Amino acid sequence: MTRSYEWLTAMNKAHLWHPFTQMKDYNDSDPLIIERGEGVRLYDVQGRAYYDGFSSVWLNVHGHNVPELNDAIRDQLERVAHSTLLGMANVPAIELAERLAAIAPRGLNKVFYSDSGATGVEIAIKMAFQYWHNLGNRGKSTFVTMNQAYHGDTIGAVSVGAIPLYHDVFRPMLFPSHVIPYPNAYRHEGGAAEAMKATLTALRKLLETKADEIAALIVEPIVQGAGGIIVMPPGCLREMASLCRQHGVLLIADEVATGFGRTGAMFACDLEDVSPDLMVIGKGLTGGYLPVAATLATDEVYDAFYADYEEQKTFFHGHSFTGNPLGCAVALASLRLFEERNMLEGVNMKASFVEQKLAALKNRPHVGDIRQKGLMIGIELVRNKASREPYEWAERIGVRASRRARELGLLTRPLGNVIVFIPPLSSTEAELAAMTDILAKSIMDVTEGGFHS
Ligand SMILES: *Cc1c(COP(=O)(O)O)cnc(C)c1O
Repeated sequence: MTRSYEWLTAMNKAHLWHPFTQMKDYNDSDPLIIERGEGVRLYDVQGRAYYDGFSSVWLNVHGHNVPELNDAIRDQLERVAHSTLLGMANVPAIELAERLAAIAPRGLNKVFYSDSGATGVEIAIKMAFQYWHNLGNRGKSTFVTMNQAYHGDTIGAVSVGAIPLYHDVFRPMLFPSHVIPYPNAYRHEGGAAEAMKATLTALRKLLETKADEIAALIVEPIVQGAGGIIVMPPGCLREMASLCRQHGVLLIADEVATGFGRTGAMFACDLEDVSPDLMVIGKGLTGGYLPVAATLATDEVYDAFYADYEEQKTFFHGHSFTGNPLGCAVALASLRLFEERNMLEGVNMKASFVEQKLAALKNRPHVGDIRQKGLMIGIELVRNKASREPYEWAERIGVRASRRARELGLLTRPLGNVIVFIPPLSSTEAELAAMTDILAKSIMDVTEGGFHS
């Protein structure tokens, strides 16, 4: 039975509570209700087409409704939809673990599955904590995170989060973490070099005085996502990794947003030849199809848990759907497409194309900064270009530009005053051209054209 738009709208309003959404605003708007997807486009129940300009919140890799991915799920479904990894295994979970260990940065040999980026981060944090505990070092129990960090919405992940708007309300129920600055070249008086120096100096000072109390540093490598698509100056990540190593502090790379080709390498850590002790992946792992995440660990971390039963060094953690066979099967199919379609090379070529397409936008009076790594792009809008004065939050400039883009046929979701452009890696140059044209027009309409929607 096909439901009418009116019925869906009414029931959506009556029963659905949407994430990261002020429902009072939302309920006054005409909701977008997606019915199907095809390639890089999504279609709503009224038959209108939209480019998926943010990959359905940074997930989608090969487009929607991809025959190879659909088949992988269907084939697995004919065998078994789910069985547990608690003390047993399943075929796709093993095959995927082998593949992930093969493509991950050096040393990450062990794969622990979960079902979202946040749970993957919880696992990394608990593993790091228990790693030191199991080694008999009970003092190393706190974490270092970075200003404006986002690692997911569960309580542990929020404890290492540092976006005041999302996280401050929960502060009383969180464990405290050390916060060092993320190098934000555009917002640092001294530019990239000074921003990087400030980060490294803060980390060095902290580690020199407190390494005894610190279990791990958690970082969004090369690109900080939800904090505004902030790109690290080259060399910064490698220096941070080396400081951690020097001071006996574990490095957790949160590659949930950056993993699987998004930055032009399979993992952002690869861009600087960094091998973290723990790495969290999610989002693009299944091509953006199903909720599978994983925390990868080195043998050294794993070995600290490997002991006689009586010693109680077991990692007592798991989720009902850990290692879900349907999800693992589609992840395997996605990785096969990466090879068959030469995705990484494609991303780098498409990234240069997008960079050229967006170059003219830099001259517009309210475009402050365009940040890009691979196909991860943030465009920061400012009220005053010379002084870099931001728009007031209440002006909702990002929301308005995204709303205009939707009218013109492109979906995206802003981060405050930063317009996000994170297209599926499979987008062709013609599709990227159409998407960037809409993006540019929407930005000009709301910042220059007095456009209100
Ligand atoms: C999205 C994201 C997460 C959280 O992933 P969920 O699957 O939404 O829980 C964690 N870290 C980073 C860097 C992310 O971008």
